[in-house]
Amino acid sequence: MQKLPLTPTLSPNGDAAGGGSAWRADLIGRLAVQTSERGREQLLRRVRTIDRADGPWLDVGNGRLLSFCGNDYLGLAQHPQLVAALARAAREQGVGSTSAHLICGHRTGHAELEEALAAWTGRERALLFPAGYMANLGVLQALLARGDICVQDKLNHACLLDGAKLGGAELKRYPHADVAAAARQLASRAGAAALLATDGVFSMDGDVAPLRELAALCAQQRATLMVDDAHGLGVLGPRGAGSVSGAGLGQDEVPVLMATLGKALGCMGAFVAGPAALIEGLTQFARPYIYTTAMPPALAAAALEAVQLAQADAWRREKLFALVARFRSGAAELGLPLAASASAIQPLLLGSAAAALDAAQALERRGLLVSAIRPPTVPQGRARLRITLSAAHEEAHVDRLLDALEALRLPPASRAAADDHV
Ligand SMILES: *Cc1c(COP(=O)(O)O)cnc(C)c1O
Repeated sequence: MQKLPLTPTLSPNGDAAGGGSAWRADLIGRLAVQTSERGREQLLRRVRTIDRADGPWLDVGNGRLLSFCGNDYLGLAQHPQLVAALARAAREQGVGSTSAHLICGHRTGHAELEEALAAWTGRERALLFPAGYMANLGVLQALLARGDICVQDKLNHACLLDGAKLGGAELKRYPHADVAAAARQLASRAGAAALLATDGVFSMDGDVAPLRELAALCAQQRATLMVDDAHGLGVLGPRGAGSVSGAGLGQDEVPVLMATLGKALGCMGAFVAGPAALIEGLTQFARPYIYTTAMPPALAAAALEAVQLAQADAWRREKLFALVARFRSGAAELGLPLAASASAIQPLLLGSAAAALDAAQALERRGLLVSAIRPPTVPQGRARLRITLSAAHEEAHVDRLLDALEALRLPPASRAAADDHV
């Protein structure tokens, strides 16, 4: 969205002249104008308050909705072992960590979790962050400097883009999954230090990045490859180790791996894993690591439990992928605008923001909660329903969703809008 021009405010006597502070734009007023602009474009976002979650069922007001918009892909968020680990650690250690990791916030539970994450992903070491957003800001800010180049997929998560800006590097964005375009961008600055960053599984599209090709390109161009596997960890790869392991790549090919604990692991927080030199450097220089409070030790204990369950419970992945297959074959039969996704994220491309919003509202009237994803989260004309499946769902839930989608009778025009996608 375009920034509005600075508009002069009037001085108390109604006089717009003066050149001093009277000419400054009122920041909150300007924001309010931008907000009402969004409302006119049907792009306003609203917080929904959920009273209680019970697996995929959400109590809202006096109704109950079956949710297809959470990221709890393995159904671990309410697992009794996670809850018990959290409660036990909280009884022993309290709630807050009281400090940053580098002062006195780093407990045994954090250290154990970092070791388990490094072992799971096949990396030398791992470093915890309070959130994925901060992990990406921290990595890019610490690794990059002015004069460097950072090459990214156009559909990367917002925090990778923000991180590149924070790092001060020149940011170039290649068309989605276009390895040849990425190669041209890297070659355009042959002398500059280069980082290529990509989502492993794209958060709004569900497809997997061409990781092997990107790794070969980075090796050839001497660029560092970073993968954000927020939606791949726990879901893809052997023992759920993620999209990078799933592509047969290790630490040598993908030295910078970031993933979150708030999606398939059902907790909150994130980590960066890689060579010891990377982790040691982040400990020294990643400001979002250094200057923030460590995650609660009880949360680290719950996450450790989740890591163990995610590795051991192969049936969760099997169930999830059986549900994905059921959804895709049902949706294909109905002629719905499916995307080329084999992950837990199954978007239906509807085109306009209004079409996506209308469809989401119609589903909600039938007791189903599916999020309408609109610009600027996705490009103009590519609004969609973002459907996510979980091992916490049952076949009957998927069937209910398919029945409701059939009843929507999505207009052919909105189907056509999605055809150029795949
Ligand atoms: C969710 C997400 C993040 C941010 O992680 P949080 O822990 O929610 O801050 C980063 N990258 C991707 C691809 C994500 O989907």
